Amino acid sequence: MAEKKIAVVTGASRGIGRAIALELAAEGAFVIVNYNGSKEKAEEVLARIRENGGDGALYQCNVAEFDACEQFLGEVVKNYGRIDVLVNNAGITKDGLLMRMSEEDFAKVVDVNLKGTFNCIRHTSRYMLRQRSGRIINMASVVGVNGNAGQANYAASKAGVIGLTKSAAKELASRGITVNAVAPGFIRTDMTDVLSDKVKEATMKLIPMGTFGTPEDIAKTVAFLASDGAGYLTGQVLCVDGGMAM
Ligand code: NAP
Repeated sequence: MAEKKIAVVTGASRGIGRAIALELAAEGAFVIVNYNGSKEKAEEVLARIRENGGDGALYQCNVAEFDACEQFLGEVVKNYGRIDVLVNNAGITKDGLLMRMSEEDFAKVVDVNLKGTFNCIRHTSRYMLRQRSGRIINMASVVGVNGNAGQANYAASKAGVIGLTKSAAKELASRGITVNAVAPGFIRTDMTDVLSDKVKEATMKLIPMGTFGTPEDIAKTVAFLASDGAGYLTGQVLCVDGGMAM
């Protein structure tokens, strides 16, 4: 029997990351469930993976911290030998109009969403280069493609993730490593539950398919990008958004 793939999913305690962790485990990967503050929720994700017949491990790490990421990913390789799939999913919002946005709220969002993605790629790519194989999947957003009033920090971070994805894809392609981004539209999670009904109604009008997406919609696309069938696909941004960005 082939060895299990080792898949790291950042921000896997809730929402989209949770669904990705469950999906990759169902596809046979050993899943590293990363979380920052939600330890109990991350434990529940690992318990669910095991109930379903899969396996994995929990790792706390704030992806915004460069040295902590080095230690986290180094420990994963020390304990499990390799990293086959890295899903940079961890993300936050701190919405507000540009004119009133604090320097701190701009920096925090960029630190987690963009620098966190850089940190994890930076500290995983050396192992993937040694293996001469790997899949890196970064969570962008339609907002990073089109922009959005009230989300200048978030949109900038996600547009940055797209630029980072394409640059990393070019640097790593010749070594058998693919790097792609998924750009979700409006997905029902804690992140979007806090939005007002007015914002939800306005957003719904922008979705040609007329429904919000689910974390599972994103997880299925990530699982495809991690699969053997996506081996010749790199540097792409897949919008999974009911047609919102077209
Ligand atoms: P969510 O429900 O708020 O969950 C966010 C996850 O990220 C949690 O597991 C959280 O872990 C983790 N996280 C936050 N800061 C972290 C840090 N510094 N280090 C490590 N983990 C951290 O969000 P979501 O809706 O699932 O979003 C997941 C990703 O999809 C994000 O990158 C988001 O920008 C992107 N996205 C979402 C939507 C949407 O409509 N929901 C649309 C487009 C893109 P803890 O709870 O343990 O802190």
